[in-house]
Amino acid sequence: MNKNPMGQKRRVCVIGAGTAGLCALKNSLESGMDAVAYERGTEIGGTWIFSEDMPENDYDEVHSSMYDGLRTNLPKEVMGYPDYAYDNDIEDSFITSHEVLNFLRSYAEHFKLGPHIKLQHEVIRVRPRLDDWEVYVWDHTTNTCDPVYYDFVYVCNGHYTEPDVPEVEGADLYEGKLMHSHLYRRADKFRDENVLIIGAGPSGMDITNHVRREAKHVYLSHHLATAPNTAFMGNVTQKPDVERLTKNGAVFKDGSSESFDHVLFCTGYKYTFPCLSTDVGIQVIDNFVQPLWKHCININNPTMAFIGLLFNVIPTHIFDMQVRFTLAFFTGQREMPPREQMIAELEKEIGQRWDCGFYNRKKAHQMGERQFDYYNELARMAGIDNIKPVILKLMKDCGKKYIFELDTYRSNRYTIVDDENFLKNGKMAN
Ligand code: FAD
Repeated sequence: MNKNPMGQKRRVCVIGAGTAGLCALKNSLESGMDAVAYERGTEIGGTWIFSEDMPENDYDEVHSSMYDGLRTNLPKEVMGYPDYAYDNDIEDSFITSHEVLNFLRSYAEHFKLGPHIKLQHEVIRVRPRLDDWEVYVWDHTTNTCDPVYYDFVYVCNGHYTEPDVPEVEGADLYEGKLMHSHLYRRADKFRDENVLIIGAGPSGMDITNHVRREAKHVYLSHHLATAPNTAFMGNVTQKPDVERLTKNGAVFKDGSSESFDHVLFCTGYKYTFPCLSTDVGIQVIDNFVQPLWKHCININNPTMAFIGLLFNVIPTHIFDMQVRFTLAFFTGQREMPPREQMIAELEKEIGQRWDCGFYNRKKAHQMGERQFDYYNELARMAGIDNIKPVILKLMKDCGKKYIFELDTYRSNRYTIVDDENFLKNGKMAN
């Protein structure tokens, strides 16, 4: 299947050259496909590129949400690819965005991906034809746009670019400053201000910890069942959800009110696929991308796969696994199930999620505890290597630390001993 009936190699189009796109490209090439990754930016790395330059036109839209001083919320020991790990020369486990970017560059260099990556090439339209895909690529270096044809498409355009800002009553009355974490770059912008941060996910918690060092006072509004540990942050007060914004502050659900200068929404992002035409057959409803088989294969056009939609997972490892899973079908090593079976499996999974009450459409791609069954299923169905037990154990050790051990957990150092075991701060962990 990696050759067409005329004996030519199958052609793979990868949209984006971030963590997901790079491994889609590498694995496709290794499967004997003729693969190209189109990257609209001037360099590879996606999310991990830190830039303070703000856009002047549409093309230069801000892609990365990276900010100054970020250290990863997962240790580098689980952030490598299964066949390419971080160098042990970096002592810390929780590393800077620059170190992640360097790692991605070294991955691309190691697997000689450079000649297969087209920088400043933006995919602006993808549409299915009878037997293949028509992909329009805008070359920003020549300002030309041509159609190119592919057998398979990997959508790896990233999901931390389009802010999800909730509608809040009174927003039109509020006269202070507003920002979404997508455009947050430095804490000193909030110097001596009173700041309301909305949302206590990984970004909300981390940004609170940065901003509170410069701000006069931070109010952290969230609806987590268990309050995060903000005890070490003297100038942070936790608040429930915002009931409504006022001219210079907010009234909260518990009836209390506060005044502040700046609101910072850390309320997440939306999945968007602006380059996919409607006949691709994919809809995003309340952040639920559907219909997808196993959260990656487009059921309506199963020669297209989406890599990395899942959250609360081990990102790099699951990207690589989803790519290997889909390639097992794209190369014909495994037979793609019929459409009815894929739909039935999707409905079953979604039914289970709805039934347990915790999941709604917005959480349709959230994994958490479900991730381990998912990994087993992909490995079994496609006959591919599973994620090593040591990576899963290490991941479990890191769970929720950004909420309850925010001030201390990044000083932990991990060392992988073998496929099963790791050391934590020099001691064998279990
Ligand atoms: P991206 O890195 O966003 O790459 C997508 C690429 O596609 C970009 O280069 C973009 O320019 C390109 N592109 C988009 N549209 C087009 C188009 N039409 N044509 C051509 N190119 C296009 N993960 C961790 O594992 N550990 C962490 O500590 C961690 N911290 C994070 C902190 C922040 C602030 C954020 C936002 C995310 C963090 N993540 C972390 C998640 C991280 O984003 C993922 O792990 C991973 O980097 C996402 O890779 P990606 O390839 O899916 O997307």
